[in-house]
Parts: sequence; C-alpha cells; structure tokens
Amino acid sequence: AAAAFDPAAQAPCAITHGETDVAPPWVRLAAYRQAGGYQLAADLATGAVAADAVLAAMTDAGLRGLGGAGFPAGRKWSIVRSQPAPRLLAVNLDEGEPGTFKDRTYLERDPHRFLEGLLVAARVVGIDAVWIYLRDEYHGARAILQQTLAELQADPPCPLPVITLRRGAGAYICGEESAMLESIEGKRGEPRLRPPYIAERGLFDRPTLAHNFETLYWVRDIVQRGPAWFSGFGRHGRRGLRSFSVSGRVRQPGVKLAPAGITLRELVDEFCGGMADGHRLQAYLPGGASGGILPARLADVPLDFDTLQPHGCFIGSAAVVVLSQHDSVRAAAVNTMQFFADESCGQCTPCRVGTAKAAALMAAPRWDHATLDDLAMVMADASICGLGQAAPNAIRCVQQYFPEAV
Ligand code: SF4
Repeated sequence: AAAAFDPAAQAPCAITHGETDVAPPWVRLAAYRQAGGYQLAADLATGAVAADAVLAAMTDAGLRGLGGAGFPAGRKWSIVRSQPAPRLLAVNLDEGEPGTFKDRTYLERDPHRFLEGLLVAARVVGIDAVWIYLRDEYHGARAILQQTLAELQADPPCPLPVITLRRGAGAYICGEESAMLESIEGKRGEPRLRPPYIAERGLFDRPTLAHNFETLYWVRDIVQRGPAWFSGFGRHGRRGLRSFSVSGRVRQPGVKLAPAGITLRELVDEFCGGMADGHRLQAYLPGGASGGILPARLADVPLDFDTLQPHGCFIGSAAVVVLSQHDSVRAAAVNTMQFFADESCGQCTPCRVGTAKAAALMAAPRWDHATLDDLAMVMADASICGLGQAAPNAIRCVQQYFPEAV
C-alpha cells in the first residue's frame, strides 16, 4: 500500500526555521552587488535610467500580479503614480494560500533581488513609505529579511524610503489586499468594500501600490534583460514565466519556474520527474484551496490566468496540488470548505454562514445537491471578497467532475 500523503514531508527546501538557528545560503549584499545588483536602483536615482523607461519595460513585459489576482503590474504602477502624493507601497508576503510556498523560497535564497524591485517600484511610482507584511509563521524568512534590510540600510545604493517590516497576524484573510491594509493599520483584518480602490484610497487613506512579493522579485530581471526576455517565455499562446508551488504525488515537488501556459501534464513530466512511484494522476488543484479541483482528463489545459475559468477554476498564486488514486477528492473538497469556514472573517453573512453550512453538508454521506447549489450561488454572488466568492469552487468541481464521489 502507498504511504499516506504527508504534506510536511513535501517541504520544498531544507532551510531550518528556528528563530536563532538560521543559516541558509542566501545571497548576501556583497555577492549581490558583485553580480550587478543595485546598479538599476542607483541608476534610477541618478537619472542614468529614466523612470519612464522602466515603466515601459514593465508594461511591455506583460508582468501580472503574482499573488493571485493577476492585475497587470505596469498598469498598476501608472495608476498609482497618477495619484496625489504621499503615496504608499504595501508588499504582501503573507503567503497564506494552502500549497503556496514560492515567495518564501525566493526570499530565503535571494532577498536583495526583491528589495531592489521594491526600491525600483518606489522610485518609479514616487512612493514615500513602504510596509512589508510578512507571514508570522515564517520565522526563518523574517530573520533573513531583517538582516537583509539592515545590510541595505547600512550601505544604501540610493536614498531609501522608510521601510517597515510588519508581522502578520496568522489570518488567511489578511492576504486579501484590503484586509492586509486594515491589519497594517492595526485593525481587524476585514476586506473593504470597493470603490474606493486602494490605488486611490488605501493604506491610511493614501493612494497605495499593493504588490505580491514575487511581482517585485522579477522587476530587476525584466528591466535589465529587457521585456522581451520575460514575455519570450510561454506555451500554448501564453506569455511570461510562472512560479508553480507543486506539492502532492509527484517525484520532485517544489517551486518550479516554468513557462506561463504550461499544462499540468507537462509540468509534472518535465519539471517534477513524473508522478511518484505507485501513483496515477486522479485530480489536481491548480490554484490552492480556492482555485477548484480538476480531473486527470483535463491535464492538458494551459495553466495561466484566464485559461481555467471555462472549467470553473483559476490559477491564483499557482499552488498546484497533485492527487492520485490513493487520495479522496471528496475529502480534499471537504477539507478546503472547512478551511474557508475557519478562515472566514465573519464580516458578511453569505460567507460566514454559507461556508459553515456547506462544510457540514459536504461531510454528510450523501450530498444535498439542491441546498448546496443554493448556498454556492449565494456565496459566489453576494460575498464581499474573494474568499466567499471562491469557496463554492470545490463544491461545483466535485459535482461536475466527480459526481460518483458524492
Ligand atoms: Fe469576510 Fe468572507 Fe465576507 Fe470576505 S467573503 S468579507 S472573508 S465574511
């Protein structure tokens, strides 16, 4: 019999996560500088590189926000730049989507690359102050980030904005950008109603640029290598690179930097060494807990923003969880709904009540499809934020693709 699936055994990197015993081989300031690091930030500050040229590169590269929503980064910079000063930057390093570990992995290896992207964005957009919102469970990452910030502040390549490292509060919902801003302000992490959009009125009521960590991580490479470098990758008509956090029944789980639009089958075969021994693909979650569940027969759908919607799913932060014949799709769906019930902020009834009721109904031996359909519709249509809106994906996917299981 196959060994039970143990997520802890799938850890993508072997870095110790103690408060004091962190000794990973991350790229230190001297090595980063030696390889041309912080030259872009310095050139921007002196005017040797024009802010407009950087903005054009970001736009031409087609880089989209890599936290889940996929909003074009260059357009976001332009919108916030056009707002009155002071403007603020909030970096989302909460990485709470189940199955996602790409931000932590990059941070623990090359933190200055991220900080340079942050400095470049701040300079181009005209940012006065920066908050980095870090997942509190990332003890090792926090130690690295603190040391890296200290290195940078001791020997800055350009005038630095005020950068504040804020520890998260352990709530999944604080990965939602407006809830993150509430949390940074010291309030309960509850998503805001839009409008106003945070680009106009965000953190402390000021125009705010909010970015996922990884979006900023790619800025230096895109500008220095040119937008065509980034957009030159891609398969099946898609453009760019994506960092997939792959876990589950594959031989080599981990963060896989792959062309946008790659299919699950290609990702597993070419980047993960194939399925684990004794395991046959049954299903996969393309976007963590919120992105739905797809059957093996849809393993040839390009994985990217927009390509999964016709199948009732989305890629989100590209957390791919691979399930085999030894896993229960039904149990995975119940687990995700229970997760959403636990993590709902409780602000709106469709989500607070809907997720709890759905979790209870899904745990029954036979599903009450009529009631679950009603709940799914109300949650999707009337919830304030993406948590409640996406929660029904698991219900609908199981009903559509695995009817024999329920
Ligand atoms: Fe809170 Fe859920 Fe409503 Fe979002 S959908 S605001 S998480 S109760």
